[in-house]
Amino acid sequence: MLGYGKIAYVDLTDKQVEVVDVGEELAFKYIGGRGWAAYIIFENLDQIIHGTHPSNVLVVATGPLDGTIFKGGSKTTFAAISPLTGIYGDSIVGGHLGSMMRRAGIDALVIRGASQEPCYLLVEDGRVEVESAEGLWGLHSRDADTKLREIHGDCSIATIGIAGEKLVNFACINVDWDLKLRRHAQAGRTGMGAAMGSKKLKAIVAKGGGEVEVADPERLAEVVERLRDQIAGSTLYEKWEKYGTMSVIEWSNNAEALPTKNFQYTRFDGVERFGGEAVHRVEEYTSGCANCMMPCGHTVSVGDGHVTVDYENFAMLGPNLGLEDLEAIAKANYLCDYYGLDTISTGSVIAFVMECFQRGILDEEHVGFEVRWGDAETVYKLIKLIAERKGFGNLMALGVRELSRYVGGGSERFAMHVKGLEISAYDHRAAPAMALSYATCDIGAHHNRSWAITYDLEVGRDDYGEDKARRVIYLQHLRPLFDMLGVCRFPWVELKVDPNLYAEAYSAVVGREFSLDDLLLCSERVWNLTRVIAILKKGIDVEDDTLPARDFEDPIPDGETKGSRIDRERFMELLRSYYRLRGWDERGWPTREKLLELGLEETAEKLYG
Ligand code: SF4
Repeated sequence: MLGYGKIAYVDLTDKQVEVVDVGEELAFKYIGGRGWAAYIIFENLDQIIHGTHPSNVLVVATGPLDGTIFKGGSKTTFAAISPLTGIYGDSIVGGHLGSMMRRAGIDALVIRGASQEPCYLLVEDGRVEVESAEGLWGLHSRDADTKLREIHGDCSIATIGIAGEKLVNFACINVDWDLKLRRHAQAGRTGMGAAMGSKKLKAIVAKGGGEVEVADPERLAEVVERLRDQIAGSTLYEKWEKYGTMSVIEWSNNAEALPTKNFQYTRFDGVERFGGEAVHRVEEYTSGCANCMMPCGHTVSVGDGHVTVDYENFAMLGPNLGLEDLEAIAKANYLCDYYGLDTISTGSVIAFVMECFQRGILDEEHVGFEVRWGDAETVYKLIKLIAERKGFGNLMALGVRELSRYVGGGSERFAMHVKGLEISAYDHRAAPAMALSYATCDIGAHHNRSWAITYDLEVGRDDYGEDKARRVIYLQHLRPLFDMLGVCRFPWVELKVDPNLYAEAYSAVVGREFSLDDLLLCSERVWNLTRVIAILKKGIDVEDDTLPARDFEDPIPDGETKGSRIDRERFMELLRSYYRLRGWDERGWPTREKLLELGLEETAEKLYG
C-alpha cells in the first residue's frame, strides 16, 4: 500500500481541475516535495517562456512524511522557473500548510495558466476549487490571511502580499500569518510569490481534518518513539528551545562570517543588542510548525503586529545594513513579511544600494533621497518602494544582478549573488567549502542546500582539499532530501538526530524498504535533474558556478581572518574536483553516462539527443 500520491492539476486559465493518482515512477524515484517539483517542471520545460508568464508551472508539493505523526513532518515546496534567476527555483516552507493539504487528501498542486480575475484555491475533502479573490487583491498578506480565516475557520493559508501582485522578482509567500499556535513562515527564496502573483493567485487555503494514510502505522509509531527519545535526550535541546536559529548571530559573529555592510566586513560590534540572547529577553511567544516538538518560531511584537524572527532575516536586515537596534531590525523584517518580500534578497539589494552611495556610484538624484548605512527610516522607505515598484524601488525589485547592470560603474563586483540569487547570510571568504556550496547551489546561492561552513571551521579555513568537495556533495544530497520527504531538517542539523530514522519512517509510510543510501540516490537524481533544467533553460555551465568578484579580490579587512579571500586558482581546482566526483564534465554538465546511471534516460535524451 502506498500512503502517498494524489496530485491536483489546476488550469487557472479555464478553471479546470483534475485530480490524478501518482504513478510508481514519480512516487519512488522522486519521493515528493522538490523531487516531484523538479520532475514536473522538467516535463513542462519546453512550454515555459518566463517565470512570470502564464506558461510557467507552479508546483506546491508536500512530502510523504507531511501530516503523519513523524515529528517535524510539516514542510511544503513551492517551485517553478524562478522569475529572479530564470532557472529552476524553489522555496521550502513550514507552518501547517503541508499537513493540512495532506489531511485534505491532496498531496501536490500543479498550477498552470493564469486567471483573468484574482482568485484563490481551496483545498478540501480531496477536491480543489478555484474561488474568487475579489476583495482580497490589493491587501497585504496579513490582512488577506485574516479575511480568509474568517471565511474558512480552522485551516492553513498561504498568501502573497503587494510585492507578489506587483511581480517583484524576489516576492515571497507567507504561510499562516500571526497565529500563536502556528508558526508564521515564508517561502522566501527565488521569487515564488511573483510566480503566484503572475497567475493572479492571491492565496491557497488548505482545510483538512482527515487522517493521512500510512502503510505500516505500528512501525511508524515505533520510529517516532526513537526520534522523540533522541530529540528529548539531546544535550543541545535546551539551547535550541531557548534561542532557535537566533543564537547563530553570536556564533556567526565569533566565526567572523557575519555579513556586515554588504559583505565588506565579517564582524559587527553590538550583536548583543539583537542576537539570540536579546531576542530571548523580549520575545512574546514561541510557535511551531505542525507536529513539532522543538518549536523555533520566536516571536516579538512590532507596533500592532508580531514578527517571527530567524537568523537569516536578522543578519541580512541588521548588520548587513548597519542596523543594530533590535526593534528596527524586527520592524524591517515585519515590513518584508507584510509586503511579501524575501528578507535575504531584500537585505542584499538595499545593502548594495547603500554601498553604491558609500562609493559615490549612486546619489540622491538617482534614488530621490540619501541612503546611509544604519538609517532605519530609509530602510523602511526602500522596502515599501520595492514592494510597490515605485521610483527607484522599481529597479531594485529586479534583484541585485539586474540592478547592478543598470547601475554599472563597476558595481557588479559587489553585487552579492550567484546565478541571480542573492547570497544568504554567511561570509565565505575564509570558508572554501561554503564558497563552493554557494557557487554550485542549484537555485543560486542559498545556504539551505549545503551549510558547509562548519566543516571549514572543523578542518581548516584555508584548506581547499578534495574532501571539501566531497562534503559539499554529500550535504547537497542529504539536506534537500528532507525537503523531498516534507520534513524539518533541524532535528538532524541542530540536535544530531540519526538521519537513518528518516529512511525508516519513509519505508513505514510507503510500505517498501528504503535505506538512507537509497534515498540519497533519489536526491542525487533530483540534483542532476535541476542542473539539466538550468543548462537547458539558461545555458548554465562552469562560467556560472562562480562567486562575486568581491570574494576573490577584497580580503577580509580585520579580525583573525584578516587578509582571507577566495584564491581563484585553488577554487577552480576545488570546482574541478567537485565536477569529477559528481560525474560531470569540465563544462559542469552531467555526462550522459551519469544521467543513465541515475535512471534519467529522458533527461539524457533531451540534453544529448
Ligand atoms: Fe518548524 Fe522550527 Fe519545528 Fe522545524 S524546528 S518544524 S522549522 S518550528
